[in-house]
Amino acid sequence: MREKYEAVIGIECHVELKTQSKMFCGCANEFGGEPNTQICPVCLALPGALPVPNELAIRHLVRAGLAVNAEIPAFSKFDRKNYFYPDMPKNYQISQYDMPLTQGGIVEFWLPDGTRKRCRLTRIHLEEDTGKLSHMGNTDGRLAGSEASLVDYNRAGVPLMECVSEPDLRSAEEAVGFLEALKRLFVQLGVSDVKMEEGSLRCDANVSIRLRGASEYGTKTEIKNMNSFRSVGRAIESEIERQIALVESGQRVQQETRGWNESQGTTHLQRSKEKAHDYRYFPEPDLLPICFTPSEISALRASLPPLPHARFDRYSHEYHFSAAVATQLIDTPGLADYLDDVVAAGAPAQSAANFVLTDCSRLANETGVALPASHLTPAALAELIALVEEKTIGSKIAKEVLSRIWREGGSPRALVIAENLAQVTDPNVIDAFVAKVLAANPQSVSDFRSGKEKALMFLRGQVIKESAGKADPLVVETRLRAQLQA
Ligand SMILES: [Zn+2]
Repeated sequence: MREKYEAVIGIECHVELKTQSKMFCGCANEFGGEPNTQICPVCLALPGALPVPNELAIRHLVRAGLAVNAEIPAFSKFDRKNYFYPDMPKNYQISQYDMPLTQGGIVEFWLPDGTRKRCRLTRIHLEEDTGKLSHMGNTDGRLAGSEASLVDYNRAGVPLMECVSEPDLRSAEEAVGFLEALKRLFVQLGVSDVKMEEGSLRCDANVSIRLRGASEYGTKTEIKNMNSFRSVGRAIESEIERQIALVESGQRVQQETRGWNESQGTTHLQRSKEKAHDYRYFPEPDLLPICFTPSEISALRASLPPLPHARFDRYSHEYHFSAAVATQLIDTPGLADYLDDVVAAGAPAQSAANFVLTDCSRLANETGVALPASHLTPAALAELIALVEEKTIGSKIAKEVLSRIWREGGSPRALVIAENLAQVTDPNVIDAFVAKVLAANPQSVSDFRSGKEKALMFLRGQVIKESAGKADPLVVETRLRAQLQA
């Protein structure tokens, strides 16, 4: 029955920008302060206070737009969005209406299996955040009896970007992939920390269904209150099921706003939407329009870092990394830059990724120092990989050298020479170790001779130990067999 239908999903998300100060005043933009300590006449909207726009927030927003290939109009402006809510001191929000800073754009993303997808954006615009209400006594937001609501205006006026997508997404998995792409893009650009648990990314999903192959959209519902990417996926999934069940039983989907209940795993009616809100937008009279020259735009474009999807394509097609490996490298801060430097220093990409994701990540955990901050430079790791590839050292010594260089810095090749760590491959030298080990382990020797192959692995380990880890395991095995069968 599910196959008869196709889901149509659009996402709206709000992302707090990373700036020192708020959007229109000098108050700190910091999460977690004591309530109402980061406030001033401007963000409290006291009479006569005037806003001054935050230049960095505007730059952040334009860079985000350029990174998704949006159009940056030469002229844009702020508007007042009028509505009353106690978390908003002005009784209007400074936002953007018909002339936003960016228009259009495409978010390139991928699914866990590596499938590449795209979703068009309608716009990304700039606005200010509201304060925060805490409802004491009950949790559903309604006041009763002596219960109270408290308001904290620290967040009021924090710069916020609103990203609105076109309804291009077709499954919960695609919606989650789209949000993950926005997150990694904004983190890479340095425009936001994107911490959903601190509310710096909040999103709503518009969901409708239609018969597969139909060209018209069905009636959509809007889902709110999702506080992790996982709950976005679950909420959309559950809403698609609910809508299909309604239609299958001959009912109609109503246009409404629905809340997500994480513990029950279902959406519930919050309010029906008979008519659209009239916010009575008008141009903000206290702020000048924003104009850009072409050279300002090209300077911002030139400041863009390597974009995650371009990197993903390079890692998939040129380096043949799995989607999981590529994603892990791209999503860990500094790791993809580091890997690119190791490859640029001459290391094969696959070996570089193996070292970066296994041995280096183990050392990072052990020492509490991230790879890019360790003493192991990309050039040193490339040198170590060369020593392994040319069989100068084996994997056991490689781990030791890696650990030393990680803590102390320096050149792996110089360390191998100085401490005589090169792999021993000379059969005559190895024969001497083998003879000594065989003499010391008569039980294992007779075990092997009576057909117990496992005894050979034990003896091989003993020979490598005898050589202080330097004997080439393949030569050791050959010489062991030769002497045991002699
Ligand atoms: Zn302020």
